[in-house]
Amino acid sequence: MRPRDLLHCERRDPVAPAADVSPAQQIERLEQRLVRERRARHEAEEIAERTVSTLYDRQRELELLEAIAEASNNASTLDQALSVAIDKICDHTGWPVGHAYLVTPPDGRLVSSRIWHLDDPVRFDCFRRVSEEKTFIAGEGLPGRVVATGEPVWIQDAMQDDNFPRRHAAPDAGVHAAFGFPILVGAEAVGVIEIFSHQATEIDRGLLAVAAQIGTQLGRVVERARGEEHAHRAVHDSLTGLPNRALFLDRLRLALARRLRTPALTGILFIDLDRFKVVNDTYGHRAGDELLVEVARRLDAVVRAGDTVARFHGDEFVVLCEGLSEREVLRLAERVQLSLLAPFGPPSDTARLVTASIGITLARTTETNAEGLLRDADAAMYRAKELGGGRYELFDGAMRERLRKRVHTERMLGRALRADELCLHYQPILSLSSRQIEGVEALLRWEDPERGLVPPDDFLPVAEESGLILLIGAWVLREACRQAADWRRELGDRAPLPVCVNLAARQLGQDELPEIVSRTLSDTGLDPRDLMLEITESALIENTTVPARTLADLRAGVRVLLDDFGTGYASLSYLRRFKIDMLKIDRSFVAELGERSEASPIVAAIVGMGHALGLKIVAEGIETEEQAAEAARLGCDSAQGYLFATPAAADRVRAMTVSDDPSVVLAPRARPAAAGG
Ligand code: C2E
Ligand code: MG
Ligand code: MG
Repeated sequence: MRPRDLLHCERRDPVAPAADVSPAQQIERLEQRLVRERRARHEAEEIAERTVSTLYDRQRELELLEAIAEASNNASTLDQALSVAIDKICDHTGWPVGHAYLVTPPDGRLVSSRIWHLDDPVRFDCFRRVSEEKTFIAGEGLPGRVVATGEPVWIQDAMQDDNFPRRHAAPDAGVHAAFGFPILVGAEAVGVIEIFSHQATEIDRGLLAVAAQIGTQLGRVVERARGEEHAHRAVHDSLTGLPNRALFLDRLRLALARRLRTPALTGILFIDLDRFKVVNDTYGHRAGDELLVEVARRLDAVVRAGDTVARFHGDEFVVLCEGLSEREVLRLAERVQLSLLAPFGPPSDTARLVTASIGITLARTTETNAEGLLRDADAAMYRAKELGGGRYELFDGAMRERLRKRVHTERMLGRALRADELCLHYQPILSLSSRQIEGVEALLRWEDPERGLVPPDDFLPVAEESGLILLIGAWVLREACRQAADWRRELGDRAPLPVCVNLAARQLGQDELPEIVSRTLSDTGLDPRDLMLEITESALIENTTVPARTLADLRAGVRVLLDDFGTGYASLSYLRRFKIDMLKIDRSFVAELGERSEASPIVAAIVGMGHALGLKIVAEGIETEEQAAEAARLGCDSAQGYLFATPAAADRVRAMTVSDDPSVVLAPRARPAAAGG
């Protein structure tokens, strides 16, 4: 302070010279005053300085918050937001280490995000590794304490703290002060940001307040990410990550709407794998899942960017492509098939070879019905399957006509069931050596008032597809058992039994089948030994898991016959696994018997194998004496065919059984059926 200022002070606040005060005293008072003034001024300056520095700190904190808020808003992932936030906090505090732990399902442990700020990565390497390996439960260590309380935790010196499990890794790094604060979604702590300093440091209240706001800010990012994940999950398949049916339909509708403006071809490929079930059954569901993921990857690789590959369920994939010509769409189908050629799993593993049946629809006109298009593609896929699989089919007019017929048949069949237009014919099965009747096969007929007698091949596929087969099958079983019980009561040992009833694949897959069979037996009073169930090889293969149990449950005396043997792919293991009692050699082999045939060695092999397993062998579709003789020579036990008898109504079979017709030698004792071998 300069003298002039002093004077100035004097003038403003004059100290009146008192008469009784000596000059020396006056000077002393003046000096005291001078000291007081100087002290006051000094204090004022200090306060001003502190205020300025506080204001400066506030300013920096605000900037930090703003930067993190901006990063949070712009970040496309949580990781990105965390990374920016941790860097900024470390820059702000000058602390050398920052890191985040995240609460992770299912058990809510804290697991390292592996997102770090490290001033000196080499020096902190050990600390980083220990932190990434360690997980924490609530209450444990720094992050656990933060999560347990939902409050920030400040450790003045982690080296002195008992609840800091990473202490042993800290001396190397020179970590002392530690500060952790929660990332909060509402009141829930979903993660922890932790920073570390080289020095033991007193708690910083300002930083605590800022951290609270940063924690809330990052919580919003977590919330947003959760919402997005939720939305993503809703429209994607969790196994392959591909869009699901809902998203596919959405994209298809958009594509169709776009076509109203700019006409372009929209193509749909409906893809169904052909032998996926075999892979699943042979190698288990894990292998099946892996195969599906790989198929998804390959499909994604063959389509163009912008095309949609979706997975509907199971082994059903659908591709949407826009702006291609018909030829290009067909070529895409070929590329899809080529992409599946490479083996899945180990190269030597033939069971894991898959092909696909592909149905294609093209929306040419201003078609806007997405579901309808999808149905057409599905129908075309079915057609490709019917034709043997491993191929593609384009939906066309003929297919539409077939579909229309199918729908019509389905409706008529429903009516037939209600109007009692279904009936059973029976075809005798005879011993090849004695030519005595050993049983009958029940064969379904439909007496359509308009069309006359309709054979099963004309309506059973439709019944099978629509599910009507379950009703029809239950009716067949009941009617056959009723008839058989009647015969047994009336004819005793001369009854043409057992009765063989065909089961459809859908019935075999039905959980209630054993229950239905045993209820039918007890309702009709038929002895289980008088019933035999015919299942086809392909039905067995389609249902490998179910029938093992179903058949075991059925085993209370009811025998099982494997029909159409030789046409499917049933291996010896199937015969053993399902404890089959009898094999019926498919008539395609029998038809070739006789004329210097190549079928003979096959039939001989089947007979040899079947007999070795203790099974009876029936030759089906014998039409000539030559075939009968050849079947007998090859060792077949029994036979069925037009040579002996065509399928006929029950009363005709009864007449045949009791008649003296010399063409049919009757069994004096029909039980046990198909004896011999
Ligand atoms: P399938 O079980 O193999 O029945 C034998 C078929 O061969 C019968 O045809 C029978 O009439 C025919 N057949 C018998 N002997 C000869 C012959 O010497 N030569 C020729 N060419 N054919 C002969 P159908 O009755 O038309 O039955 C066809 C298929 O329909 C059956 O084949 C069976 O798979 C199915 N089916 C018939 N009835 C039922 C039923 O009640 N339920 C189920 N799920 N399927 C049935
Ligand atoms: Mg049959
Ligand atoms: Mg057959």
